[in-house]
Amino acid sequence: MSKQPLIAADTRPWRDPAAKPFVRINNVTKKFADVAAVSDVSLEIYQGELFCLLGGSGSGKSTLLRMLAGFETPTAGTIEIDGQDMTAVPPYSRPVNMMFQSYALFPHMNVEQNIAYGLKRENIASTEVGQRVNELLALVKLAEYGKRKPHQLSGGQRQRVALARALAKRPKLLLLDEPLGALDKKLREETQFELVKIQETLGVTFIVVTHDQEEAMSLATRIGVMNQGEIAQIGEPTDIYEFPNSRFVANFIGSANMFEGVVTEDESDHIMIDSPEAGCAIYVDHGVDCAPAQRLWWAIRPEKILLTRDRPDGVANITRGLVDDIGYLGDTSVYQVVLDSGKKVRVTKANTMRGDLEAIKWDERVYLSWAGNAGSVLTA
Ligand code: ADP
Ligand code: MG
Repeated sequence: MSKQPLIAADTRPWRDPAAKPFVRINNVTKKFADVAAVSDVSLEIYQGELFCLLGGSGSGKSTLLRMLAGFETPTAGTIEIDGQDMTAVPPYSRPVNMMFQSYALFPHMNVEQNIAYGLKRENIASTEVGQRVNELLALVKLAEYGKRKPHQLSGGQRQRVALARALAKRPKLLLLDEPLGALDKKLREETQFELVKIQETLGVTFIVVTHDQEEAMSLATRIGVMNQGEIAQIGEPTDIYEFPNSRFVANFIGSANMFEGVVTEDESDHIMIDSPEAGCAIYVDHGVDCAPAQRLWWAIRPEKILLTRDRPDGVANITRGLVDDIGYLGDTSVYQVVLDSGKKVRVTKANTMRGDLEAIKWDERVYLSWAGNAGSVLTA
């Protein structure tokens, strides 16, 4: 009798140096006139991933996606999909489909006809087309809506029709440009989960473009953060949030308190940063790749700082400030604290107790403390 392994196999191929990527983007640049919309991007994406390209408006996300689909030609660099160089392969011959931001449904066709459109053009037998349309309608939970026209559907339903249509030809790679952009916040959150479920059911590789960091965090296996045509960081959502590699990423994803300082102690097991704005020397409990007396930045997330009335014991870092503002958000409260240096710091606290009479209030003088591993040292 064979025993089940105690630990499931790691399903993250990007952590396995021997795994073969499904999509390889090699040093790709795209220039429009002399402006680089995408600049020397290299990226490897694995089969079954839901990879998010995240960046502000104009950062080059759609241009990169359009090059994968074959609608734009790279100025330099190569793209490989499923082991094949795509340079000479036209869009319709690629194992790829794209779902557009606008959904681009045909208004005069009903839902079934919209989904079947691409299949009919492929000369697939009509019984098979009908069967596949029914499967897709069930997949996106629209079995009752096959005969409706797009204008008779809600925004969320139209989004699902567009998804079903994009999946009809069973692409190996589906590209989605802001797939939830037209939906309101509540519906977006529900649809995010549906999208992940559908992607996992089919095992199709998805590349999703979004400017919404929360969306990327909840959807993605990994995120590629884009800034001005370049990839700023690639990583799992937790890597990007907890270990940002630069001030840009730390500020772009979530919020961060940033302190500028100079390294005064540089040891293999810790460093010390002198930062007048922090009001204390910052102790970091690990070595950092930096030069002596290097100027750098230290970033800490608002939930990693503890606020107390009394001076805490046994904590690596303590500074003082005055509570300037409190925003009550129900589940958490956001404290704005002004340090003695004048620097404003954002601290969040989970409201685990109802009507907490002991809660810290406005104009109170407080201690701010954090552990030696609570922040990120940034040299870029
Ligand atoms: P994003 O999708 O991240 O918002 P885009 O990829 O659409 O960004 O655009 C990146 C940059 O390239 C922008 O500055 C945009 O104006 C420019 N750009 C995109 N497409 C074209 C085009 N066809 N001609 C000229 N400039 C373009
Ligand atoms: Mg775009």
